[in-house]
Amino acid sequence: MLTLNDVTVRYGRFAAVDRVNWSVGSGTEAVTALLGPSGCGKSTLLRAVAGLEPVAAGVISWDGTDLAKVPPHRRDFGVVFQDGQLFPGRTVAQNIGYGLARRRIRGAAASRRIEEMLDLVRLQGYGSRPVAALSGGQAQRVALARALAPEPRLLLLDEPLAAVDSQLRESLAEAIGEIVRAAVTPTVLVTHDHREAALMADAVSVMRAGTIVQTDAASRLWHRPIDHDTASFLGARAVVSGSVRQQVLTTAFGTASLADDVSFGSVTDGPCEVALRPESVIASPDPNGGAVIEHAAALVSSWRVRVTTADGSTLEGISSHPVKAGDRVQIRLDAGALAVIAR
Ligand code: ADP
Repeated sequence: MLTLNDVTVRYGRFAAVDRVNWSVGSGTEAVTALLGPSGCGKSTLLRAVAGLEPVAAGVISWDGTDLAKVPPHRRDFGVVFQDGQLFPGRTVAQNIGYGLARRRIRGAAASRRIEEMLDLVRLQGYGSRPVAALSGGQAQRVALARALAPEPRLLLLDEPLAAVDSQLRESLAEAIGEIVRAAVTPTVLVTHDHREAALMADAVSVMRAGTIVQTDAASRLWHRPIDHDTASFLGARAVVSGSVRQQVLTTAFGTASLADDVSFGSVTDGPCEVALRPESVIASPDPNGGAVIEHAAALVSSWRVRVTTADGSTLEGISSHPVKAGDRVQIRLDAGALAVIAR
């Protein structure tokens, strides 16, 4: 298990990572996302764990052993960066086999391991190809195979989808999630994209301005973000006040049963703040409805709407029926997509 105790990493006087306490790999979660906006210190933290950035204060340890004096190549961690950084003049197999000699895996055993890795990342038959001939998604899968081949005790992925075309990103995200689960290697995934974290991770740590502000199971985080900033970062467009009584949430825009979604856990009775994603505000055409469509945009199978409510508020929502500006609608809340701020 990886443990960080009060870890600070500085560039000059600036603390890019500021007294972080964190642990990964102790529970059942295979993939932990380190999620936060660009510049919050995610890559710096990952690089410090990999031994590529000096630690100014605090201790990074594995199973209780301080890693301060352990050089990167002896940490037994696999690393994949944004653009894979494959060795350009070599074949796919030579890239995947790169770390095996150091583990004293040679000859037939190395060839077997390379074949296993090609199977794992679904690139059977690609071994002799030059890496220059690969697509971006294939190159990232080779980088993943290269990182996993020596059986690292921890896999570190730094925005592995950043350089991949947007159409491919979702399928590659799912593929990487499946591959690291099949490899049974605890994995840290650095990403700024909360959808990517939702697709790939079991647990999510949210980072902001050099510190980790919340760590939770992904579904729990989505429903109980720690504060406004975290809720907005996770896609909330409005924060409204509400109150909870016996797991029923009441707001000016409707009620929702929190018992319908186990991720809420038991929410204490009393006033609360409710973060609304567009998916949590459902508009349906109704000539007697209290809200009016301000703007509607057609998505693939629904309409993204902005409505003015009876009390003059503006909310973003969705409609599964065709609607246009000026239409009257009724709105209701979907507990599955809203969040109750945790403090
Ligand atoms: P993230 O991965 O969350 O985008 P980084 O860890 O790359 O964030 O950067 C965190 C902060 O440290 C940013 O303000 C960035 O500008 C700064 N930073 C990153 N690398 C360096 C460096 N080599 N020298 C100076 N400042 C750096």
